[in-house]
Amino acid sequence: MTAGHPDEETLARAGRILKEGGLVAFPTETVYGLGGNALDPRASMKIYAAKGRPSDNPLIVHIAEMEKLSEIVAEIPEGAKVLAEKYWPGPLTMILPKADIVPKETTGGLDSVAVRFPSDPIAQALIKAAGGFVAAPSANTSGRPSPTTAGHVEEDLGDAVDMIIDGGQVGIGLESTIVDFTEEIPVVLRPGYISLEMLRDTLGEVRMDQGLIKSDSTVRPKAPGMKYRHYAPKADLSIVEGDTDAVVAAINSYAAQAEKQGLQVGIIATDETMERYPYGVVKSIGSREDEETIARHLYEVLRDFDQYQVSAIYSEAFYTPRMGQAIMNRLLKAAGHKIIKVQEEKQ
Ligand code: AMP
Ligand code: MG
Repeated sequence: MTAGHPDEETLARAGRILKEGGLVAFPTETVYGLGGNALDPRASMKIYAAKGRPSDNPLIVHIAEMEKLSEIVAEIPEGAKVLAEKYWPGPLTMILPKADIVPKETTGGLDSVAVRFPSDPIAQALIKAAGGFVAAPSANTSGRPSPTTAGHVEEDLGDAVDMIIDGGQVGIGLESTIVDFTEEIPVVLRPGYISLEMLRDTLGEVRMDQGLIKSDSTVRPKAPGMKYRHYAPKADLSIVEGDTDAVVAAINSYAAQAEKQGLQVGIIATDETMERYPYGVVKSIGSREDEETIARHLYEVLRDFDQYQVSAIYSEAFYTPRMGQAIMNRLLKAAGHKIIKVQEEKQ
């Protein structure tokens, strides 16, 4: 495994592996994907088995040419055309009614198919070499944080894939925004780099899936994958939310208590706050001045803590302006929705 753009021969070999029904992990601009031929039901079944993923949780089909879209969907609504024009290639997945050639194994038994056209040049070259349609969920063991480096893929799936293409660290670090076009009004099923506001600017009315808004309610999210606990580190994670000073004080008090018992906590801080935590294993996720750094490092930080003997992990909250919705969606899932709300003491 070497980072950088793979040579022609490596890509041709990877393409052959996919055409013959094998699995290749590869970088995209969002996270690393575990690729198989999307039109081959046995390849999709291999993907589910390798990840330990429940087979009712459909895969996203990746294309690398706009014209390929019409081959795998039964219909392209006007809104989907507009979004494709604006955001493809890019971190956007659209759910559309599927064409017959897409096997039910790939779509988790559904009549719709999720499609994305990634912007990463390695991903595009691989998809073309494979014949045009690559099913690729995130290349992690089901339930673990998604991989943002080839090393993460190796950790989780090293033995289960035929090849891993190393393209270095990904740029975005959170999975694509998913927009469902199978209903009258487009619905966001998973927040991502492209925010609800950006979608509304382009499409007008766009709804957020109720299952995402009411995380603790009984409303089932429409994307089957969103109902599972996900991204979880091994130690118990809680999010501490409130004014910065109150959050720092609360986390320091948990950390000090743990220390008295001979334990150590993990702390997910930012460049701006990390010096303020004297106890525990402190990691900065990025800078609040640049929310993209927070998104990019989230999964890496969660994975990193698995290497330490920490009794619990406390994270600051990251309701940043544009990607905050996506970052907090993943962090809340990783924490199993455990939030501690704190307030500054009145003087
Ligand atoms: P991942 O492959 O790990 O990025 O996850 C893909 C997400 O897309 C999961 O949450 C799936 O449930 C969701 N998804 C894929 N296809 C569909 C579909 N046809 N309808 C609704 N959600 C889908
Ligand atoms: Mg995933």
